[in-house]
Amino acid sequence: MCSEPHRTIAPRSGAAFTLDRGQRLTVIDPMGEQVADLLAFNRHDTAEVISSGRTLDYASRIYLTTGDPLYSNRSNVLLRIVEDTVGRHDFLLTPCSAETFRIIYGDTDPHRGCFGNLAAALAPYGILPDAIPVAFNCFMNVPVDAATGALTVAAPLSRAGDHVTFEAATDLVVGLTACSALQSNNGSFKPIHYVISG
Ligand SMILES: [Zn+2]
Repeated sequence: MCSEPHRTIAPRSGAAFTLDRGQRLTVIDPMGEQVADLLAFNRHDTAEVISSGRTLDYASRIYLTTGDPLYSNRSNVLLRIVEDTVGRHDFLLTPCSAETFRIIYGDTDPHRGCFGNLAAALAPYGILPDAIPVAFNCFMNVPVDAATGALTVAAPLSRAGDHVTFEAATDLVVGLTACSALQSNNGSFKPIHYVISG
């Protein structure tokens, strides 16, 4: 991993790129406590996309880590987590959006959020906003009350340099952000680094 140059996603922005089957994507939190929303689509048929519902159903767990596959809406494995220095990520909550900031934060001139950043980055691949599902939220820390199911968006457990590495099980289009929601990132917006290898 260290031989490959890292790429930077600026705070509150996003990127899209392709991964070939067998390649690895390492998502790095360079400063700590920063979430990165990840989407993956089958490059040869972008109607196939990662599915939170199917993945959590098959895992019978909501916290995924090393060894866990991310399944598609057609129950094919698109990515596998092969390395994880944090062990706490979220796959329940939808990408933050202008609506998130309007409804939850009360912003009158809201940022477009991860949703808008993903939509813009994925548009050149022919992927429309309505095709964006729940993202795999790297480093997002969402504890759940076991009795009531109440969710809390807590500070990420990631520290500077922590990372999670995925291996592509097929050819993919990937969307990735440096998340734009204050609460998810313990109150400040930081960059995300990533490395593609293999
Ligand atoms: Zn976000």
